[in-house]
Amino acid sequence: MENIAVIGSGTMGNGIAHVFAQYGYNVILIDISDEALKKAMANIDRNLSRQVEKGTISPEAKTRTLQNITVSNDLKTSVKNAELVVEAATENMDLKLKIFRDLDTYTTPSAILASNTSSISITKISSVTNHPENVIGMHFMNPVPLMKLVEVIRGKNTSDEVTHQVITLVKKLDKVPVEVNDAPGFVANRILMPMINEAIYTLHEQVSGVQEIDTVMKLGMSHPMGPLQLADFIGLDVCLSILNVLHEGFGTAKYAPCPLLIEMVQKGQHGIKSRSGFYDYQNGTKDLSVASRFKK
Ligand code: NAD
Repeated sequence: MENIAVIGSGTMGNGIAHVFAQYGYNVILIDISDEALKKAMANIDRNLSRQVEKGTISPEAKTRTLQNITVSNDLKTSVKNAELVVEAATENMDLKLKIFRDLDTYTTPSAILASNTSSISITKISSVTNHPENVIGMHFMNPVPLMKLVEVIRGKNTSDEVTHQVITLVKKLDKVPVEVNDAPGFVANRILMPMINEAIYTLHEQVSGVQEIDTVMKLGMSHPMGPLQLADFIGLDVCLSILNVLHEGFGTAKYAPCPLLIEMVQKGQHGIKSRSGFYDYQNGTKDLSVASRFKK
């Protein structure tokens, strides 16, 4: 494989493009928003500079990585040579079905079509294509350049050959593939999201404050960051979408999203990417201060 197309250049898409390009693949990064593409390239540049400063890559490797990425706002013309497409657009079923219908038309029949979806059924996504055997889940973790895990999700029709090829590819990126079957939220988010939702309920019911809840989970459970900070980092809109998929998929009340999460998303408080969530990020992402509405 040489040519990879990445669809969506947000939180995940820019990280996925970064990693493939760093490992020598030709990457075309596609988004409907030129603004998002500009932001993504600036992010990749900044993250590569950090790697150079830390000594994990050379300055020449940074230049090569950037040269391996081109950007486009036109899916139709950009995916025709792709041997692998990784879709990392907004977590919305209808949008993903539309993108995969388009991919079915514009890619070659042998192209592997992967989705980075956090929760949506790979079997359902594959059903709109003529080659469901080539459709698979490649669930990278955030931030992609740092996180080792990739959940590899087999839809009901995904072929052994495609699964094998994707597992081999993930290893070439120095990441660890874990193969899982198709079910709402797969493994990672089926376990993670109820914990994040419970942390939001704990805040909503005023059992404790933002920092206190995060401190309990960091110092008490050795989590590297608390669940509320993690929710800000993932994106509160993304968390809500995943919980909705779990709630509808399993049909049990235990996955119902907390009203506070719904309200924050409605108000545009989406976490780090909107600079406002459980914490405020006006002074940069490292300078955490609890958002004013949650201050005691
Ligand atoms: P995001 O909101 O940061 O970015 C989504 C991008 O998709 C935006 O730039 C948007 O302009 C673009 N987009 C929307 N419609 C498009 C279209 N038709 N064609 C091309 N681009 C389009 O979202 P994100 O957090 O990067 O999430 C992307 C996917 O990755 C989702 O499926 C999400 O569930 C999954 N995911 C997210 C995380 C996380 O921590 N945020 C982790 C793992 C997986």
